Amino acid sequence: MKCIWWLGTLCLALILTAAAQEQEGESAPRPALHAFTAIRAGTLIDGKSDTPRHDQIILIRGNRIDSISDAASTKIPAGANVIDLSHATVLPGLIDSHTHIFLQGEDPAEGGYDANILKYPLALRTARATVSARRALEQGFTTLRDLETEGAGYGDVGIKEAIEGGYIPGPRLFVVTLAISTTGGYPLEGYAPELTMPKGVQIIDGPVEARKAAREQLDHGADWIKVYMTHRSWVGKNGELVSQPTLTLEEIKAIVDETHGWGKKVACHAYNGIGLQRALDGGCDSIEHGLQMTDAQIAQMVKQGTWYCPTLSVYYLDWAPADTPAGQRDRLRASLHGPTFRKALQAGVKIVFGTDMGGIPWTEPIAQEFPRMVELGMSPMDAIKAATSRAADMLDVAGQIGVVAPGAFADIVAVPGDPLHDITQLGKVQFVMKDGKVFKQ
Ligand SMILES: [Zn+2]
Repeated sequence: MKCIWWLGTLCLALILTAAAQEQEGESAPRPALHAFTAIRAGTLIDGKSDTPRHDQIILIRGNRIDSISDAASTKIPAGANVIDLSHATVLPGLIDSHTHIFLQGEDPAEGGYDANILKYPLALRTARATVSARRALEQGFTTLRDLETEGAGYGDVGIKEAIEGGYIPGPRLFVVTLAISTTGGYPLEGYAPELTMPKGVQIIDGPVEARKAAREQLDHGADWIKVYMTHRSWVGKNGELVSQPTLTLEEIKAIVDETHGWGKKVACHAYNGIGLQRALDGGCDSIEHGLQMTDAQIAQMVKQGTWYCPTLSVYYLDWAPADTPAGQRDRLRASLHGPTFRKALQAGVKIVFGTDMGGIPWTEPIAQEFPRMVELGMSPMDAIKAATSRAADMLDVAGQIGVVAPGAFADIVAVPGDPLHDITQLGKVQFVMKDGKVFKQ
């Protein structure tokens, strides 16, 4: 008995010593991580301020921004790694709030959307998703809100873990996993009714199933919940855009209630009409696409603080032939989107930058959305904020990302020219730092 007590004490002592050594190891200086990096910024657009600053020194320690000061009065610490961006415009890492890393365009020649689910092994889709993530980072997008895997299950959670673990390069990911719609509310569809086809989302019917799906997805790592509030769309009898509503108000309310209980938010795909109205009445946090919104709906968004992620570019791509019903629908959708964007902008709706990449092939430039926003009346500075501090605010990480400020993560990019005079400069990102590490220079 005594012997066992003695052994136990020895054991405990050994464990404590080991723990102390481990702690000591953790707090011991790691030169690469703790040394200062100093960026000389010719012009700094910090993501929050309306006025750019010139000739600034951004001091970075580890993975955080330590300080920002005038180059003339700053003494760079001895031994600091100096990065000269004195001829460039420096900005916070960009945020795309609507992507699909598991989609690779939906080229009909390659089998369209359905081939993703029916033909591609999950390992192939995952391998390609790692390439998508890398492409985003190369273009200066250091954060993505990735809005569902399109039949690739919880693959986004795995990719996020791989990036965070340092196994593959990629942006910070906010993931939604499977997404939710109703029976008749998502592909695969159009197959023989005798067949039970896999779906690109988790299908629910009724508030109980809706809440359960949200619980499952949150339990398995969803940072946000994504819901499809409209599905098919077509041109109505009077030439109007009609979109088929999916979830009932009771169903969406159950999902929003559950998700908010977890301290998380709900993104709602909604084109217009009753589906969009249910999204707003149900308390959705962000409206995705929002092709056509009435003045009353826009006012409701302002009142409720609903975010708007318009994804303009994708609706200008791959129109069906003009003389087909689908082609007429495609043209009508694009023609309504612009005026809605302008109205929302004027009313003060909180607009974030989002592209629907994945719906757009990942070989295309992500920054193509910026000139679309500016053409529709948004100032270049506002468009930059939509892809930096405003998006960070939506993601509940204000001050952490989307801003070049003391205490923020060192996610920093640079472009050669002045994006306030030429917004297409944002498509020419030549320097990318994420989490204090240079990824592209
Ligand atoms: Zn999408």
